[in-house]
Amino acid sequence: MSTGYIRKMRTSLLDGKNVNYEFVLAQDGVEKYLPLNASIGKKITLKSHQVYECLNCQKQGAKSYGQGYCFDCFSKLAECDMCIVKPELCHYDAGTCREPRWAERYCMKPHIVYLANSSGLKVGITREQQIPTRWLDQGAVQALPILKVETRYLSGVMEKALAQVMSDKTNWRELLKNEGSNLNMIEEREKVLPLLKPLIEQYGAEILASDAVSFQYPVSQFPEKIQSIDLDKTPEQSGVLLGIKGQYLIFDNGVLNVRKYTSLKMEINL
Ligand SMILES: [Zn+2]
Repeated sequence: MSTGYIRKMRTSLLDGKNVNYEFVLAQDGVEKYLPLNASIGKKITLKSHQVYECLNCQKQGAKSYGQGYCFDCFSKLAECDMCIVKPELCHYDAGTCREPRWAERYCMKPHIVYLANSSGLKVGITREQQIPTRWLDQGAVQALPILKVETRYLSGVMEKALAQVMSDKTNWRELLKNEGSNLNMIEEREKVLPLLKPLIEQYGAEILASDAVSFQYPVSQFPEKIQSIDLDKTPEQSGVLLGIKGQYLIFDNGVLNVRKYTSLKMEINL
């Protein structure tokens, strides 16, 4: 049995394609990594201690905000601001950024605009260093970087333009239904780049000539009925692990969005 505060699962790629997962529990500044792929087909028990510890200030509480923060930190940290979810709303230039020093390290850096195939074709953005982690966290089966821009704000402008013709979100129910079908990502890129031409010229975006990458998630069986597990309502969860996709654990009796419980104290029995 291991106890600690949940972090999002750690991913890595084996042979450049197969996704390997580790369950992460943090306590007193130390993270423990528990290999998960080997537990597929086995029974796992999770028990919530029903207390969250803020990722920023370590204050404890019965609820968390913005995936792992106390309400105070959620209200004051730049990384919890609306512009992180909607980067086109970046207000750094207006001088009203909650933490300009933080923004200089995370937002005023080159960003990648990509196409991914998660629950279908979508557009997304990420910092270069977050590739391929971002795609694996989303459960994308394919991804293709298409543009590089100077800031998070500019990536948001491009994303918003593409969101007119495709989704910018993943439908988690669709994602967990099946493996997903393959798309011709290069063809999709060629379809959308002309739409972005005026913006690419206006902002001097770099068109990337990357190849598409594809990923295989460790899932032995997809659920017939998708029911989400609520650890706040039902603190103890026990079931056979059928697979892992994105940040979801797929059990024979429901699916658990691990990310939703970031900073929750719990025990896990693998
Ligand atoms: Zn806090």
